[in-house]
Amino acid sequence: MSKLGSSDNPLKVAIVGAGPSGFYAADALITSELKVEVNLIEKLCAPYGLVRTGVAPDHPLIKKSIEKFAVMAEPEEFNYFGNVAVGKDITVDQLKESHHAVIITMGAETDRKLGIPGEDLKGSHTATEFVAWYNGHPEYREREFDLSHETAVIIGQGNVAADVARILSKTVDELKCTDISQHALDVLEDSKVKNIYVVGRRGPAQGAMTSKELKEFGELRECDTFVDPAEAILNKSSQDELSDRNGRAAKKIYELFAGYAEPKKAHKARSFPWTRAYVKPKKCHIQFLRSPVELKGNKKLETVVFEKNALSGDPFKQSARGTGDLEELKAGLLFRSIGYRGVALDGVPFHDAWGVIPNDKGRVTEDNENNVVVPQLYTAGWIKRGPSGIIGTNKACANETIAELMKDIENLDDKKSKLGNKKIYEVLDSNKVRYINFIEWEVIDKHEVDNGKPKGKPREKFTYTDEMLGLLT
Ligand code: NAP
Repeated sequence: MSKLGSSDNPLKVAIVGAGPSGFYAADALITSELKVEVNLIEKLCAPYGLVRTGVAPDHPLIKKSIEKFAVMAEPEEFNYFGNVAVGKDITVDQLKESHHAVIITMGAETDRKLGIPGEDLKGSHTATEFVAWYNGHPEYREREFDLSHETAVIIGQGNVAADVARILSKTVDELKCTDISQHALDVLEDSKVKNIYVVGRRGPAQGAMTSKELKEFGELRECDTFVDPAEAILNKSSQDELSDRNGRAAKKIYELFAGYAEPKKAHKARSFPWTRAYVKPKKCHIQFLRSPVELKGNKKLETVVFEKNALSGDPFKQSARGTGDLEELKAGLLFRSIGYRGVALDGVPFHDAWGVIPNDKGRVTEDNENNVVVPQLYTAGWIKRGPSGIIGTNKACANETIAELMKDIENLDDKKSKLGNKKIYEVLDSNKVRYINFIEWEVIDKHEVDNGKPKGKPREKFTYTDEMLGLLT
């Protein structure tokens, strides 16, 4: 038998999910010393995961990573199967049978729940639904968001909450030359939202946004950002956090929050400096130390009930405790932005409470208690470690997984040559699945870019799968 990883017996690996960690894992395999065949399988036609359907349209620099991923798709060892749902069109067992290893990199597809009464009232949405909708994700294309309300509430103070607040605060002029989907821009054009509340359960020393995102709240054309000065006052443990060297980033973030508590300078229209100062029509209120305890309304959201919190615990370990003091805010629109959560895939162990695949440095394990490894199965990205970090964080995460996979090769029970993508073609053909390869994706991609040009947009995304498939012969 030829050595595994040689030209006669390449290491065949299937990767499930074509987001950043899927591409980083593919690249680590292809640039290794072994001869490999990598089959990257994605349920959407379009690759790139959250870089395409999650990153905010007004953050084009972050989307530049797509260019690097497209280069990673060039080698002949790389094969792309778009529009293929693993678990439905092909099973994990079929992939295991035909590959030496299967790596699950399917990200975190859903949201954490608040677990409060009224959470599912009409008008209460997850932030991720809204993000996927304005970013043209086909599965969210038909979602409806009623922006006829004047007040919108966002629960959570991470970067996703910042993205949602910015999209609601910006004018159509500020967004129209981004890759935001046209259907979303049309709805935003008629938006009546003018009071946006971004509400955190802890204080301004514990905000989960990064400073770049927080700074952008001060640069909105038609929206002013406010923090109540009383809420910028820190307790002793928070002061200790910020004076600690581990609290440098938090200190910068706190200073930005505190800046929004300063009295506002009058604005003058830049092009008409002689005119009277004007008040920006939209207001973004960043509020702290509040947890929603109930959403009230008759069939649809009318009021958010918050309980005021106090922080307790040692520095860096402070948690929010309810004080029993309640307050109500009238609002017809709410976005829960309290973090993403992974979903289970048939044939792969899943830790339901944490929303991740149990693993040891990327080797899938039976559960979280014992470290019994499940042969052939690996994982990387958010489904491996939970929803944290920036795009680049997934590179180190995928590299760790591939390093473990490489160590395992010598001990593989079955080093025989595998069918690899021949089996994938066979299963997909017999299931009559219209999968697309990377060249076909590039055809779709070019159409999107061309469709964006007349509007001054980097691209106009196709938001229906059938539209994309219709472009291909
Ligand atoms: P996140 O950063 O984990 O923030 C979640 C927020 O929700 C925190 O403020 C958290 O407060 C709050 N929260 C959690 N459970 C809650 C509950 N039960 N009640 C009230 N509040 C609750 O999550 P994310 O914003 O979804 O972002 C996910 C990851 O993607 C992050 O690593 C983020 O940096 C990254 N991302 C980056 C960018 C960018 O680079 N521009 C853009 C978007 C996302 P506590 O702190 O009290 O838990």
